[in-house]
Amino acid sequence: MKNAWFEWGVGAAAAVLVGTGFVYAGVSTRAVEATPLNDEPDPRELIAAYTSAIDASALSSEMKRVSVLRNETLSSVLDRIGAPRHEANSAVYAASQLLDLRGMRPGDDVTAWLETGADGDVRLVGVSLRPEADRQILVSRAVDGSWSSHELVAKLTPGINYVAADVDQSIYQTATALGAGDQQVVDFADIFGYDIDFQREVHTGDRFGMLYETFEDERGAQVKTGVVLMAEMDGAGLTKTFYRYTPSDDGSVDYFDENGQSAKKFLMKTPINGARLSSGFGNRRHPILGYTKLHKGTDFAAPTGTPIYAAGNGKIVSYGPFSTYGHYAKIEHANGYTTAYAHMSRYAKGLKRGSHVKQGQVIGYVGSTGASTGPHLHYEVYAHGKPVNAMTLKLPTGRKLEGEQLEAFHAERARIEALRDAELAQQQMAAAAPAPTLRGTTGYASVPTAASAPAETRE
Ligand SMILES: [Zn+2]
Repeated sequence: MKNAWFEWGVGAAAAVLVGTGFVYAGVSTRAVEATPLNDEPDPRELIAAYTSAIDASALSSEMKRVSVLRNETLSSVLDRIGAPRHEANSAVYAASQLLDLRGMRPGDDVTAWLETGADGDVRLVGVSLRPEADRQILVSRAVDGSWSSHELVAKLTPGINYVAADVDQSIYQTATALGAGDQQVVDFADIFGYDIDFQREVHTGDRFGMLYETFEDERGAQVKTGVVLMAEMDGAGLTKTFYRYTPSDDGSVDYFDENGQSAKKFLMKTPINGARLSSGFGNRRHPILGYTKLHKGTDFAAPTGTPIYAAGNGKIVSYGPFSTYGHYAKIEHANGYTTAYAHMSRYAKGLKRGSHVKQGQVIGYVGSTGASTGPHLHYEVYAHGKPVNAMTLKLPTGRKLEGEQLEAFHAERARIEALRDAELAQQQMAAAAPAPTLRGTTGYASVPTAASAPAETRE
């Protein structure tokens, strides 16, 4: 089956090869624009399109698609699938003209085409890399043995998507089932992370909604998602909507409620993502020491290595092993507040006692050092030296917009709400039409989910 990418590629390749010739010892590079589709074009057609003459042997090449393994480079991947060393070197060099290959990560896909000649020798014909959803680097060998690289960039149309639903098992499962990406759910959790403990304060029947940017290819397929413009929560614990807005005076992106109050607070409620609250603040029987005492903090169970964030801006006043707390960090904040983090497996690189940290900066990683029964973060908050319950603490808030900034915010908020209303109307129309697609659902249905899966922890 023919497709747009291939048809475009034939004409472009001829122009590129006639027009530019080769540079850098047989390597020519050219960025071109095309319309990559979600399904790969026939690789043999693609290779033929990008070689200066139809190389008959290329048409019988064999495609191999492999994932980059840990500690592998493009050279070692090509080596692993049997490409001759000198051809692999040429291909890597050609690719490096358009792409920083140090950016390759385990799990990235590499597609390569190999052909076996009449003499039985295996030769490398082409390599395709997909550094981003809308970008493809294609490296190919011409009949004369020279190599060239081409960049295909998708023409993307920005759009909007709105998902809203009742929480069934988890916001993560419900939102991704409706089409949101992992990043949108993480952003949503970050926006509400100052107000809600997602493990404890979100209940079945609560409603959430998020409006976010999308990018579609020419067939209307969503190839990537963008920023969250609006995040809504309507539940027993909290009813609130936040809107994305960048105040012109400080230029820093933030989310504000309808009164222009920033979502950010002086301290984050939970300085860790994707964790389960395993033990709250208050009197309890100590699991190791065996007697009842005041548990001065909150425990969050999470896998070893999960990043721990500074709950607020401040200065590290303690950073090292401390008694039964194991690997320990303590941060002094403004207004007489102090936070402490215990049982870490390791510390963040580049930090030490006296370092200044920003809210949300990684200060260490979850572990089970000291008197601990399993990997968890023991988190303490002190107000003027007295331990307080982080989960019920009323905290000083972040920026409140005023004057011209508040007016500009209200205008942006009206624009975002109009986008949401238009998208919702379109979804309802699509839902009324026959054969609805997933994107065509109104988003107002409760989505049954099999199991709870919290958002991935982030770097
Ligand atoms: Zn604890």
